[in-house]
Amino acid sequence: MIKYKLKCDDCELVFDSWFASSKEYEKIKKKNYLTCHNCGSQKVQKTLMAPKLISNKKNHKNNLDISKYNEVKKTIKNYQKFIKDNFKYVGKNFAYEARSIHYDKKKKEKGIYGSASKQDLKELKDEGIEAQMIPWIEDKEN
Ligand SMILES: [Zn+2]
Repeated sequence: MIKYKLKCDDCELVFDSWFASSKEYEKIKKKNYLTCHNCGSQKVQKTLMAPKLISNKKNHKNNLDISKYNEVKKTIKNYQKFIKDNFKYVGKNFAYEARSIHYDKKKKEKGIYGSASKQDLKELKDEGIEAQMIPWIEDKEN
């Protein structure tokens, strides 16, 4: 399927129309079957705008998803960089470290980051320790 933006020369209406192919468009145009649905004029032209080719709807969608994913990934990467620069990595000891900061009132210059299970986070929250969960992309994914 191919989508063209058509423009009526008489009333300047612009509208989208679908055709099986560019050949089909030419055929319909030649036979003057192409009419403006607003004023009925046959002076309907394809605008110069590039037509959208949808040969495979699924691929089209996947491409969108991938570019969206890359966009999100970039944001996360920037976020990760900020965290790495400003927070201390404590790995799997996150829950322990978070508690020691909270209960010992240890003054740490840096915040901490690391991995924790959902259960850990829930328990920390119950104890009044705020922890933020963010999506994390391992570097090895590159
Ligand atoms: Zn018209």
